[in-house]
Amino acid sequence: TILSDQISAGEVVERPASVVKELVENSIDANSTKIDIVVAESGLKSVEVVDNGSGIASNQVELAFRRFATSKISDKRDLFRVRSLGFRGEALPSIASVSDVDMKTSDGKKQGAEIQIHGGKVVKMEPSQARRGTSVLVSDLFFNTPNRLKYLKAPATELSKISDIVNRLALSHPEIAFSLTHNGRELLRTSGRNNMQQVIAGIYGNRNMKQMIAIKGENPDFKISGYISLPELTRASRKYTSVIVNERFIRDFGLDHAIIDGYGSKLMVGRYPIVVVSITMDPSLVDVNVHPSKEEIRISKKKELSTFISQTIYETLSKQNL
Ligand code: ADP
Ligand code: MG
Repeated sequence: TILSDQISAGEVVERPASVVKELVENSIDANSTKIDIVVAESGLKSVEVVDNGSGIASNQVELAFRRFATSKISDKRDLFRVRSLGFRGEALPSIASVSDVDMKTSDGKKQGAEIQIHGGKVVKMEPSQARRGTSVLVSDLFFNTPNRLKYLKAPATELSKISDIVNRLALSHPEIAFSLTHNGRELLRTSGRNNMQQVIAGIYGNRNMKQMIAIKGENPDFKISGYISLPELTRASRKYTSVIVNERFIRDFGLDHAIIDGYGSKLMVGRYPIVVVSITMDPSLVDVNVHPSKEEIRISKKKELSTFISQTIYETLSKQNL
């Protein structure tokens, strides 16, 4: 029902940045190689995500907006080996229940479809474009849930949250060409040439990127790669610390700490390095079904992973000082 969708929207869609995150994750799951994000008025007016992914067959379009309808998991056991970013089937119905949604999609084989949904009700469904891919335009977010609107922060803050999410998604997927445009101004563009350094340069600037050093480490359980800044080049915010597990960016206090531990006593109190740490591990050791926003995950060998991250960073920095 629309009401239960609105309730679950409270968990999935907190703010414009969550809409961006869910839509872009869907585009990534659809194997897109190009994803363009266009935002107006910090997402308070509209958020549009255009991809060149697999699209949705027109007879499946309405289903995609039904709660718990996911095409990504068919078996309960799949939950223990989730590879896709989405799997709960809640995002689209949640978003559509509290906004105006206009989706155009095509699988490139048959005639595409356009669907418009207003506050959870389908108001239009008709044949559309043939180009393979999907575009989703979300406007008037929270128009029917004024309490939610009240909890939003100043537009500049909402925009910085959007930017932060897109940055992390781009860092998690250097093989995808991303662009983020706000009120006609381009904030980020990545090439999609699978070059992590280029993505870092696009986000943190060329100068910072040139002062970062590559880290690499591998043991039977984990593979670590990424870039870290020298202890001198630090920021007063945790925002510049990105941890990616199996191409999914996560927020984990323990792993952030493992990174900082790797610096030993070299970091000043309250200063944080600019870091991107990307970890590859057996997906069965990772439980992503912890929280609807999927940023928290449970890792089976977390202590071992923490130690390995610290060690890898420590060794990298020691070599630098030779
Ligand atoms: P989930 O991602 O958890 O499966 P969503 O509500 O986010 O649930 O999306 C529902 C379904 O709609 C997805 O399982 C997928 O089949 C389809 N879908 C959504 N967005 C896209 C897209 N950009 N490209 C292709 N399919 C999509
Ligand atoms: Mg999804």
